[in-house]
Order: sequence, then C-alpha cells, then structure tokens
Amino acid sequence: MILQKLTLTNYRNYDECTLQFNSNVNILIGENAQGKTNLLESIYTLALAKSHRTSNDKELIQFGEEYGKIEGELSYRHGTMPISLIITKKGKKARVNHLEQSRLTQYIGHLNVVLFAPEDLNIVKGSPQIRRRFIDMELGQMSAVYLNHLSNYQRLLKQKNHYLKQLQIGRMKDRTMLEVFNEQFSEAAANVTLKRAHFISELQKIAEVIHQGITSEKESLQVQYEPNIKLAETHQNVSELKNAFCELLNESMDKEIERGSARFGPHRDDISFHVNDMNVQIYGSQGQQRTTALSIKLAEIELINQVVGEYPILLLDDVLSELDDKRQTHLLSTIQEKVQTFVTTTSVDGIEHEIMKDAKVFNVSKGN
Ligand code: ATP
Ligand code: MG
Repeated sequence: MILQKLTLTNYRNYDECTLQFNSNVNILIGENAQGKTNLLESIYTLALAKSHRTSNDKELIQFGEEYGKIEGELSYRHGTMPISLIITKKGKKARVNHLEQSRLTQYIGHLNVVLFAPEDLNIVKGSPQIRRRFIDMELGQMSAVYLNHLSNYQRLLKQKNHYLKQLQIGRMKDRTMLEVFNEQFSEAAANVTLKRAHFISELQKIAEVIHQGITSEKESLQVQYEPNIKLAETHQNVSELKNAFCELLNESMDKEIERGSARFGPHRDDISFHVNDMNVQIYGSQGQQRTTALSIKLAEIELINQVVGEYPILLLDDVLSELDDKRQTHLLSTIQEKVQTFVTTTSVDGIEHEIMKDAKVFNVSKGN
C-alpha cells in the first residue's frame, strides 16, 4: 500500500501542510527539532490511532489549538481510499472513506506501518511491557479480531482487579462471584494467548531466515513466546486452554486475593530472543541486540504482506546512518521497489545507496 498524500492540520508543529509522496523512497531532511519525527509520527498515528511516542493524545494537538487532524490518501492494489483521524481534547474520530467509524478497532488496519527507530532496541533490551506493546501494536494492525479480544480482556482484567481489591480489604466477602467471573476471564485470556502464540510463531519463521542472512549464517535466531499461562501440547484450542487456565485461577484464588490484583494472564506475557541458544536480552552484545531488533522489524514487513496481501509502509526515524554497511544493505534491499519508505535524517551523508537515487527529498524546517 502507498500513502499518496498527507494533510496535517494543527498537528504538533505543523499548522497546515499537504504533501504528495513518492511511491518508493521519501527522505525528510532537516536540522534538529524541525518536525521530521513529528511527520513520521503523524503517519504512524494515522495508521494505528495511537502515537508511538506518547499515550497522551492531547500532546499531538498543536499548542493553543482545540483539535488536530491527519488526513491520508491511500492507494492499494485494488483502488484508493481516504482515511482521517481527528484528535480533540475529548477523544478521537476516525473516518474511512469519509464515513465515521464507531469503533477504532474497525478503523485500525486500513493503513499498515512498520516503524524503526533507535528506541526499538528496547524490544530486545527493555522491559516485558515494551514487548507486550510490540505484540499488541503489530498483531493489532493485522487482526481486528485480536484487537477485540484484547480490549475485551483488558476490560475484564480491570473488573477482576477491582473484585480482588474489594475481597482483599474485606469490603466483599463472597467468593462465588469471583469464581463465576474467572470463567469468563479465562476465556478472554485464552483467546489473547492463542492469537499471540500464532503470531510469534509466524514471525519467528521469517525472522530466523532474515537473521541468518544478515549474520552470514553465523547466528541462528529463536524468537519465542513466553506466555504467562503455559501452553501445553494439549492446549491447542480456546476451550482446552480456557479450562486449564480456569482451574489454575481457582486454585490460586487465595494468593490473588492476598495480593489484591490478578497474578495470572496475558497481561504478564513476555517474548524471549535467543541467538545460538544464548539469551540475547541478557548476554547479547550491543551489535547482536541491534541485529535481532532489525531482523524482527524486517520480518514484520514480510508477515504483514503475507497476512494482509499488501506491503506496509516503512518509517525509518534516524536509524539508517546508525547501521553499518551490511545491515544498511539488508534493510534497503528488503525495501527495493516494493515498500514505500520514509527516512528522516539530518544529512544525506552516510546514506549512499542505489535506491536513494530515485528518492523524493523534503526539506523540513519549522513545521514546513
Ligand atoms: P531531531 O532531529 O532532533 O529528532 P525532529 O525534526 O525530528 O528533530 P520533531 O521531534 O519532529 O523534531 O519536532 C520537535 C519540535 O516539535 C519541538 O521543537 C517541539 O517544540 C515541537 N512540538 C512538539 N509538540 C508540539 C505541539 N503539540 N505543538 C507545537 N509544537 C510542538
Ligand atoms: Mg526526530
């Protein structure tokens, strides 16, 4: 898919700005603090209805304004479509083909993006929370079903934590309610867990091959889902997993009440990365961690194409000049003519590659 045109209104430091893009590579050049990342962020937000930099949408609205707006014209293999997102202080309104969508889960997925920024190293190095967010964002843009499962689970988790707190402080005495509730909670947890398991195993297959290529077959990467609810061979479907999980929850009821919050479920999942059987997160060198992050990002591009039938848009924020020649070549050869790409940089030095020759260059200065 291709983002043909983007219009920003009161978005961060952009007052009003319309841009027509190249279907291959677009380079955004500018000094620090001019609006390069803001522009990439607006494309990411248009796709996922959420910024990668903040969870507070109000920050996206230009200082002193009431609302911010992002409009995009997309073209797919089978036609074109306008989508837009209006951010107000009260909430967001998303439109597809000028029609307002009643739920964001219906909106997300019309535009697919893969963003690669220096902080992505944290997918490997950082906390489990970052890896869960990674799964949710990436899987969410490929599967509306997953987004629905996830929001259902999050709603139940909140409610469960409320019950547990009430039981812990003695404001609620009867546990039968929790027992009944655990049944519903287990089903939601099983739905999320199985979707995540499938996603990681598909991602692994692609990432392994890419990683071998980057490391000239010296390293073998294993990306593994570490679900909080352990998946046994027998737990291949939702009802089996649900039953096993429900049993565990009812056995652990005392512990959960004592703690006053839910101890088990996908809100405590993780992913592990091993290179030649060594845990990269703990023992890997900076270079190995960087390569792992790159392999995963490149795998995402392919996986989205497999699932959605179109390549996503690639957003590269300040990463190209940080990669050595070999990694840069790998990244750029993946892109080659099939993935529309947006690259930010403070200078073109350090990105000398064939595909840059046909790039469209934008000079970014003070939100223009
Ligand atoms: P660098 O090369 O340092 O990464 P950049 O070009 O990527 O720079 P951005 O992060 O895109 O810079 O833009 C940052 C600028 O946007 C800041 O100077 C900040 O003042 C401005 N900015 C951020 N949020 C808002 C907002 N809500 N309203 C107006 N301006 C904003
Ligand atoms: Mg920036």
